[in-house]
Amino acid sequence: MFKKVLIANRGEIACRIIRACHELGVQAVAVYSEPDKDSLHVKMADHAVCIGAGPNADSYLNMPNVLMAAIVSGAEAVHPGYGYFSEQAQFADALQTLGIKFIGPPVEAITQMGDKSAARDAAKRAGCPVVPGTDGPIESLEDAAELAETIGFPLLVKASAGGGGRGIRRVESPDELENQLTAAQIEADAAFGNGQVYLEKMIVGPRHVEVQIIADAYGNCVHLGERECSVQNLRHQKMIEEAPFAMLTEEVRDQMGSAAVALAKSVGYQNAGTIEFLMDKSGDFYFIEMNTRLQVEHPVTEEVTGVDIVKTQLKIAAGEELPFAQHDITWQGHSIEARITAQDPERKFAPSCGTITQWTPPDGDDVRLETHVYEGFSITPFYDPMIAKLIVTADDRSEAIRRMSSALREFKVGGIKTNIPFLIRLLDDAKYRAGDVDTTYVATLMEEGETANV
Ligand code: ADP
Repeated sequence: MFKKVLIANRGEIACRIIRACHELGVQAVAVYSEPDKDSLHVKMADHAVCIGAGPNADSYLNMPNVLMAAIVSGAEAVHPGYGYFSEQAQFADALQTLGIKFIGPPVEAITQMGDKSAARDAAKRAGCPVVPGTDGPIESLEDAAELAETIGFPLLVKASAGGGGRGIRRVESPDELENQLTAAQIEADAAFGNGQVYLEKMIVGPRHVEVQIIADAYGNCVHLGERECSVQNLRHQKMIEEAPFAMLTEEVRDQMGSAAVALAKSVGYQNAGTIEFLMDKSGDFYFIEMNTRLQVEHPVTEEVTGVDIVKTQLKIAAGEELPFAQHDITWQGHSIEARITAQDPERKFAPSCGTITQWTPPDGDDVRLETHVYEGFSITPFYDPMIAKLIVTADDRSEAIRRMSSALREFKVGGIKTNIPFLIRLLDDAKYRAGDVDTTYVATLMEEGETANV
């Protein structure tokens, strides 16, 4: 095992990784920006290196600064967390050159799966069903018009390099194609430095179901089952995630798991990764993309399988074999994660900054909180609004919902606005309780809320 690992991230995930390091007897090095100096991850780490000013470009996304921190701290490995450099092949490659281990997949796998269009091709080759769409990026408007007719409307224009719900545009009819295509290309170029886009059939009212996989350097690859993540905000960002997907049959779980493992193996994948699928109304599922990193929602999988994904990542990166085989993995109970954000649901989810004057999180059996904040901590405008993840686990989905609902009611935060009131309303909603949700569910719930003047 490594002696010292640097965590190239901030927030709750940096704290989560530091804990895993400590449990394995590994020293943890934190990096932080000036406004993050009082963050819990800095206090928890054995060493901490300031890497610049508040804006991400000056610190967490300043590659030379992060690499320099790794060198001067003497870290043998770097865990990238999620976001930031976690899916940037260039970062993994630079570390390799420096003789520092990247805790994640090989550079080639990041490159291949990081390009959504190339990932679709890899999925097809591995026998994994993909959403009907174009093979490779769009070359011209004429091609696009022809392909669009074959795919049918509505369809989506997607950026090959897209991520985080960005770079996706909906096209309802042929006359919208040119405008949306051009807008998507410009947007993708500005956001990702890569203007390539492709077309994909839009699945109407799909569920988002994803499979967690984990693979070692010796050809062993295991799936840890699925997560249901259909509760997404208007920008396709997940709000609530569950494991397992209560309505999935054993047979479909096996099919999805096998498809995910086949794809991961076909690209020589190592470490933790997530294969995302959309499921249509008839229960057919289609690959949409692979995230070549740890996911925000990994705890729900940990809760129902008993596998510590972060510790397993560290072990694999250190050259150990996967400590379990597929037949060792079993699923018990039901786990739900709610993302707590510093946003005001009464003001269209506008970010809410300021000092936290009260922080009284819920407690009780099978209630887990992942956070980097505390009473007295100041939320600055520089970063993602997520301030905590609340995870509850119970025997079945109904009990888990009731546990989450009661935990959210116990959760008292003062000084800033949070999305907790909205989450409570969502958890109480009959449709959510019945499991009758798809990726358009939150939009509908918000409209209802506005009508009711909530
Ligand atoms: P990102 O990498 O930005 O997260 P994804 O390709 O994973 O983008 O898509 C994000 C979300 O957008 C999905 O969870 C789903 O809600 C929606 N989406 C993506 N592709 C389709 C599609 N073909 N049909 C319908 N909805 C889609």
